[in-house]
Amino acid sequence: MSSNDNCIEENKKTFKKKIKLKYKSISIIGIVFIAFLVFFSLFYMFFVPKITLDGKTYLKIEYGESFNEPGYSASYLGKDITDKVWINGKVDTTKVGIYDIKYKVRKNKITTTKTRKVEIVDTVKPVITLSGEKNVNVCPTYDFEESGYNAFDNYDGNLTDKVKVDIKDDIVTYTVSDSSGNKATITRKINRVDNEAPIITLKGGDNYYITEKAEYSDPGYTASDNCEGDLTEKVKVSGEVDSNVAGKYYIDYSVSDSKGNSTKVTRTVIVSKEIQTSSPIKGAIYLTFDDGPSSTVTSKLLDILKEKNVKATFFVINHSSNLDYLIKREYDEGHTVALHSYSHNYSNVYSSVDSYFNDLNQISDKVEKITGMKSNIIRFPGGGSNTVSRNYSKGIMSILTKEVLNRGYHYFDWNVSSNDAGGAKTSEEVYNNVVKNLSKNRANVVLMHDFENNYKTLNAISDIIDYGKENGYQFLAIDMSTSMVRHSVNN
Ligand code: ZN
Repeated sequence: MSSNDNCIEENKKTFKKKIKLKYKSISIIGIVFIAFLVFFSLFYMFFVPKITLDGKTYLKIEYGESFNEPGYSASYLGKDITDKVWINGKVDTTKVGIYDIKYKVRKNKITTTKTRKVEIVDTVKPVITLSGEKNVNVCPTYDFEESGYNAFDNYDGNLTDKVKVDIKDDIVTYTVSDSSGNKATITRKINRVDNEAPIITLKGGDNYYITEKAEYSDPGYTASDNCEGDLTEKVKVSGEVDSNVAGKYYIDYSVSDSKGNSTKVTRTVIVSKEIQTSSPIKGAIYLTFDDGPSSTVTSKLLDILKEKNVKATFFVINHSSNLDYLIKREYDEGHTVALHSYSHNYSNVYSSVDSYFNDLNQISDKVEKITGMKSNIIRFPGGGSNTVSRNYSKGIMSILTKEVLNRGYHYFDWNVSSNDAGGAKTSEEVYNNVVKNLSKNRANVVLMHDFENNYKTLNAISDIIDYGKENGYQFLAIDMSTSMVRHSVNN
């Protein structure tokens, strides 16, 4: 062996030693590390307090629902310390978002914290509501007109301003999204059709009144179509009126639109005899009895009139049919049966011109059925000067007082009031109210009533008649030749 060989051998030995030393130090570090791990694990197991959360640690809750704590527990060295846990963090269920709830417990200066995440979500779509039809008919030539919509979201509230409207192939689509991205869509369909007939409006009304020999000219009309607008020019008018002959005449108006939808309306023209008013008979007394007949008064009143040979006028209203015989008797004994009202209910009678005439026609038909004669003599409920009708229809008396004359009626108010439906309480008062207001220089129309139990008038009537006869007055029943006594109109 050479010294050189020895040297190499020596180096090899040294190298191997060094490697051994290195491995030794690595395994020492490893052992120390493992020992630490074991130590910390044991420390954690025994000396760190524990928190256990019940339920999910990430909770999703729908907006509008409530959050209920799912529960938790804590322990330390096997002992329950749940009551030592304190909680930080709040969930606002009225606001979408993620909320942290921290659960903490502390023992021997060691604190343990656990976190639960609660997310408030909104997964509910907004609701879009359409005004008008969901299937809307639109004229072929017209643009679609939006009839309105609104959008409401459970979370964002009113979203109407955010609705997008899109029209394609006659489908209108309404879309809106809420702040959580929930999208709602609704559609409306447009049908291009015209199946509506034009409308003809007759100026002057469906019933038109003229007096005999007055010249008839058409009061006018208009026609309009939902799709084609004004069609007045296309209206065809047929029928004729001969105003020399009183009676009913029919005029037809017809029109069609370009799609063949057609309309026909008819006007009835009533030609009535001319109103004739003679000069008043001075010193005449027309006794008039309103609101009858009645079971308690009318029959006895008729007995007195018969005995005194005096004719009077009865402005009757509707009554039970077992009093029909009193109307018949009035008529048979030469009195004038005139028309007052069927219902005598102001709110009904004066609600409109049509209402008035409906009511008048009812009592007119009833009287005609009983007597066989149509009466053309009327008295307005409350009189022509009444103001009560203002409550139901402004200006109606101005129209009615003219219209009843146009329709051939004569109407009578009064110029002597017995006040037996007002202040007069005794027969003496009724008597005085009448006789003090009579005048020889005019015709006297005396207002009285034969409604139920009106004995004060019944008992005054003989004396009134005697007074009239003794003082040169003449008792007459109203007829169509009687000069009308009217009040000025107040409505
Ligand atoms: Zn009356």
